[in-house]
Amino acid sequence: MIKTEQLCKRYGSLTVLKDVSTEISKGEIISIIGPSGTGKSTFLRCLNLLEKPSGGSIYINNVDLLAKDTDVPKIRQKTGMVFQSFNLYAHLSVLENLTLGPVKLLGKSKAEANQKSLELLKLVGLAEKAHSFPDELSGGQKQRVAIARCLAMEPEVILFDEPTSALDPTMVSEVLAVIRRLAKAGMTMLVVTHEMEFARNISTRVFYMDEGIIYEEGTPEQIFENPQREKTRAFINRVRSFNYHIDNPNYDLYAMNAEIEAFCEKHLLPPRVCDHILLLVEETLLLQTDFSDISLNLAYFEKTGHLEFRCEAAGEPVNPLAEGVQSDDIGLKLIQSRIEDSQYRYENHKNMLFFKVKSE
Ligand code: ADP
Ligand code: MG
Repeated sequence: MIKTEQLCKRYGSLTVLKDVSTEISKGEIISIIGPSGTGKSTFLRCLNLLEKPSGGSIYINNVDLLAKDTDVPKIRQKTGMVFQSFNLYAHLSVLENLTLGPVKLLGKSKAEANQKSLELLKLVGLAEKAHSFPDELSGGQKQRVAIARCLAMEPEVILFDEPTSALDPTMVSEVLAVIRRLAKAGMTMLVVTHEMEFARNISTRVFYMDEGIIYEEGTPEQIFENPQREKTRAFINRVRSFNYHIDNPNYDLYAMNAEIEAFCEKHLLPPRVCDHILLLVEETLLLQTDFSDISLNLAYFEKTGHLEFRCEAAGEPVNPLAEGVQSDDIGLKLIQSRIEDSQYRYENHKNMLFFKVKSE
């Protein structure tokens, strides 16, 4: 139903979307998650042409949105959008907010639009507010009106951009309940959200956006239970992370160690875990030969309590724990006992050593 190919969007020198390529079928419910500033809103806005993409293509029901003769108002009508900030007309009643579009843009009679709008208000639980004004409603009610207004235009897909972010926590669930109801009715929807439980329960697929692309996608189980890529895992597991960069062999080992200790202290890691990490980092660095571009990353996973250490190097980093690396070093033996997993990886065009440190 929706297809994007190498969609990109730049603002001046800032590339927000680099290459978004995906296909979405009718009836799918896609949750889009990711850190702020990663282009989630921009992606939705491109899909209904509120933003003009800088390149690539978008097809909705095989219509090329970026073709010169595309009927933009019609596309906007087919791809309804619900914003964080409701955007209702304050001077119109709830009912008038709903009937305006169908009368003006779809050419419906006032009577027909009224009847349909009342049905939609019933659907979102607000029939009794038909003659109220937006100011008289709570945030949750306003957002439900905004959803009904969107439905009044008979969209084929609804794009939700953080529909509950502006709401008082007590009102989040009433809006999510309405979205859930639409999902059950088979509406195709893309929902940018920070409500992870909701995303997990409602979606057919989850997109994790980062680096200007759909960095990882999968079923809710795959993304929430077993994310594969580093940034997804960090996001899902609420990881505390520490990075250190070395660009010459005379780097300051003591300054680095002090930073690692500060990181451990800040995140309340037991002193023996901290000692262990210091040892692991030191032993790893001892074996390296190319110091021109080494990136160290420590990641502490709040949810599971385990630690990961990555050492990325321009050359091929040597794994102190690999078979073949001979050592009687007592330090290494100590490390070995607490490492759950150690492997060599090639990720993001870099050679990397990866260690998973036991959590206890
Ligand atoms: P998200 O919704 O994931 O938080 P956005 O799509 O809103 O991210 O924004 C992505 C990036 O694009 C941000 O760095 C933001 O500052 C920038 N951006 C968004 N809209 C504009 C604009 N109209 N002009 C310039 N930069 C923009
Ligand atoms: Mg946004």
